[in-house]
Amino acid sequence: MTDSTYWNPILETLPREKIRKLQIKKFRKIFQWAYDHSKFHRQLYDDAGITPKDIRSFEDIRRVPTVEKSMMRDIQGKDPFPYGEALCVPLEEVTIFRQTSGTTGQPVYQPDTWQDWEWWMECWSYILWAQGYRPRDRVFIPFGYNIFVAFWAGHYAAEKIGCEVIPGGVLDTKARILKIQELRATAMMGTPTYILGMAETARSKMGIDPSQLTIDKITCAGECGASIPSTKKRLEDAWNAKVYDHAGATEIGAWSFECAEQPGGMHVNEAMFLVEIEDVETGEIIEEPGRRGKMIITALDRQAQPCVRFDSKDVIEWAAESCACGRSARLIKGGVVGRADDITKVKGVLLAPSAIEEVVRSVDGLGDEYEVIVDKDGDAERIQLKVEVLDDKPDPDQCRLIETELADQLRLKTNLRYDIEICGCETLPRYEVKAKRFKDLRKSKNEK
Ligand SMILES: [Zn+2]
Repeated sequence: MTDSTYWNPILETLPREKIRKLQIKKFRKIFQWAYDHSKFHRQLYDDAGITPKDIRSFEDIRRVPTVEKSMMRDIQGKDPFPYGEALCVPLEEVTIFRQTSGTTGQPVYQPDTWQDWEWWMECWSYILWAQGYRPRDRVFIPFGYNIFVAFWAGHYAAEKIGCEVIPGGVLDTKARILKIQELRATAMMGTPTYILGMAETARSKMGIDPSQLTIDKITCAGECGASIPSTKKRLEDAWNAKVYDHAGATEIGAWSFECAEQPGGMHVNEAMFLVEIEDVETGEIIEEPGRRGKMIITALDRQAQPCVRFDSKDVIEWAAESCACGRSARLIKGGVVGRADDITKVKGVLLAPSAIEEVVRSVDGLGDEYEVIVDKDGDAERIQLKVEVLDDKPDPDQCRLIETELADQLRLKTNLRYDIEICGCETLPRYEVKAKRFKDLRKSKNEK
């Protein structure tokens, strides 16, 4: 295989108007497929009065009803067990079971055929190749593989492009670090939280400086962190490696990635996915850069359980600039900036948890962990922020300085005031998969 810049030089540099034509063509095909094979989709589209012959333009696509996770949850467990009425292939063609993490409720099952699985690997091959993975790389995966999709497709794609893959599944953190050292692994994949935690374990419990190990690139997924500049910097400094973001989801696929240029955002893989951004208030589709909305996404080639105009609740915006890497696929600025469910009004001001992370991780002297608790007492709302100092025995003067800097930066970036609590070193909870650092206690009070 040649060492070209692109995994698929034709699709990745296709002129914009050709990508758009391809998207309409593929959308029509997957829409027809879902209409013909899924009772659930046919009912949804018949109720809306839309049939495959109505789809000719992006305007037509916008009239296709969106699907929410809760709708998928409702049809599961029905025939054919356990997937229900959105299954588009005979059960015997299903070869892979995965489920969503269930962070927002009952998990959703995801069936894939072998062809779908090959599609997953192909999508991930774009990602890894764009981030500089090549056959000479030795990739370590420090993740407990299980019923969730993370990082199975990354594993198989790394093999597909010719890398050597070391599955670090059941090893504990220390054993993983020793294996990376022993085998001189050059790349790894993980959640930003876990990769930061690994560096902390190496330094504080093993006397190993992770920046001296041989890892030179890290693919992060599962959380927004690798697109938050201060978190990216912490990760890169800790490991002396390039850190790249990727966003994907069980029910969607691996739809976006940061390339080696690190352009301050992620490319949408537009040959494989149609991404639309919807204004949360008006429902209008946003075409112009710089306006945030929630992502409505279609996986253009996935068959067993199609993903057609799925309301992902991920908040994104188009970037104005194109990328120096030469890929023609559009960039989303700053990656996924949050979940529509997490972006909440506090004291009348819109607050995205990622903005707090950006500030906390930019302050010297603070550890990587933090916790945000939004609460109310009668009508008065308050935000409590807990952070950790790095020092075992912190100097009170230094703590005051940190507190002042945090308060100033937070007011500047979020227009809100916080009750800041400076906690001792390593006192806040640690997370391996999806960190839960943002707690909104107002919701449970409203329900009472
Ligand atoms: Zn690029």
